[in-house]
Amino acid sequence: MDSDGHIALVCHRCGCNLQPGEGNFYVVRIEAFADPSPPNFQADGLAEMNSFQLAAAIDDLIEAMKGLSTQEMMDQVHRRLTMHLCGRCYRQWIENPAG
Ligand SMILES: [Zn+2]
Repeated sequence: MDSDGHIALVCHRCGCNLQPGEGNFYVVRIEAFADPSPPNFQADGLAEMNSFQLAAAIDDLIEAMKGLSTQEMMDQVHRRLTMHLCGRCYRQWIENPAG
């Protein structure tokens, strides 16, 4: 908040101040999902495992997940973020969003 009681907005890339109402910046919403298709067990070689190996693989997975908080697990599946970009940064970013 600045002294006028407005929320101060800065460009996510260059850090310049953005003035709401002047139409000189962009709001970019990004929503990212993990691959929603069913797991391909064939690819992991799980199909060739016997039940003992499969149980060990599941134990490994559970063990790996113990180190993660609920939030971290959620973040691995789905993330949503909002960023503000000034006009100049937006025009650079939109040409190469994955860069
Ligand atoms: Zn900028």
